[in-house]
Amino acid sequence: MRLLEEKILKYGKVYPGNILKVDSFLNHQVDMALMGQLAQEIYNNFKDCAVTKVLTIEASGIPLAGATAQFFNVPMIFAKKASAKNMSANFYSAKVYSFTHGNYYEIKVCKDYLTKDDTVLIVDDFLANGSALESLMDIVNQAGAKVAGAGIAIEKGFQKGGDELRAKGIKIVSLAIIDEMSAEKGITFRSPEAC
Ligand code: 5GP
Repeated sequence: MRLLEEKILKYGKVYPGNILKVDSFLNHQVDMALMGQLAQEIYNNFKDCAVTKVLTIEASGIPLAGATAQFFNVPMIFAKKASAKNMSANFYSAKVYSFTHGNYYEIKVCKDYLTKDDTVLIVDDFLANGSALESLMDIVNQAGAKVAGAGIAIEKGFQKGGDELRAKGIKIVSLAIIDEMSAEKGITFRSPEAC
């Protein structure tokens, strides 16, 4: 999506360790008008999928997931990050490997909010190696619900999470896919034809 690519080129900063910082508009200070436009695009791609819930992980997925849920007129659920000792029997839980922090953490979703009758669209700000997405799909599966697919703002296509999950038949719509990035050479996006 051209608009998002332009924002990334203007405001994004590439950090060591393949981290892209976009916290001036996506995941710290948030451009809500942009979130609405991204959410509209995600909605257009999944509007025929009978989505009943939008699911993300706190905290940085919440603005885009919330805006997306508004288009579908369905609830947004954010998986909570929790230490294992806080877990109770009424929660679905899964482990996520944090790409940005280099450690594992547990996420949980209350069983009351996801049931076998749900069709779930997963939304997140980034897709890198796919751990967050796989753990969210695990939680949807634990509930016996259906995964409609995933809507992602920025996919780092040089990390293989997105391509591996697509190869398994998961519908993933990423609004900008970065094929290469470095502080020296800048950012190259995957052309829409190759997506
Ligand atoms: P994955 O689980 O796919 O490896 O990584 C996705 C998660 O890690 C996202 O929820 C996002 O919060 C975080 N993440 C991955 N790469 C980046 C990045 O380059 N920049 C930022 N800000 N977050 C990232």
